[in-house]
Amino acid sequence: MMEKTFIMVKPDGVQRGLIGEIVSRFEKKGFVLAGAKLMQISTELAEEHYGEHKERPFFGELVDFITSGPVFAMVWEGEDVVKTSRHMIGATNPQEANPGSIRGDYAVTVGKNIIHGSDSLESAEREINLFFNGNELVDYTRQDKTWIY
Ligand code: UDP
Repeated sequence: MMEKTFIMVKPDGVQRGLIGEIVSRFEKKGFVLAGAKLMQISTELAEEHYGEHKERPFFGELVDFITSGPVFAMVWEGEDVVKTSRHMIGATNPQEANPGSIRGDYAVTVGKNIIHGSDSLESAEREINLFFNGNELVDYTRQDKTWIY
């Protein structure tokens, strides 16, 4: 099924110069970039985005971290992109993330795991709407589509 998902390079990934590498992996995979922007997350947006973790002990640190510098927010489109991008990203704890996954290759600790990706179709829709206005997303077809599908 054709889906859209929300992917974000976190402040540590931006500071470590990993935006290009991460974009490149999704591009080469064959997914379509529907929207992207470098932005500073407000405390309000951070608390809303991570609302499901409000009662967790790491919530305060997580909000401080995600607002500590610019993030690179993206929307990627493709068949089963929600589940596939979670595989590409790897386990939440980089120590458990497989080599070859983004966290497995580039991160060491759970608090600085460089990238976010929606974990379900429902959260993808919620997060895309939270971070992007409809007019910031572009609908187009990649030239190589028939070589991917
Ligand atoms: N996190 C943390 N400590 C923990 C669990 C999670 O700092 O013990 C952070 C981590 O950055 C993670 C984010 O909270 O990416 C959201 O957690 P979630 O369980 O939703 O993991 P994800 O979907 O990002 O893999």
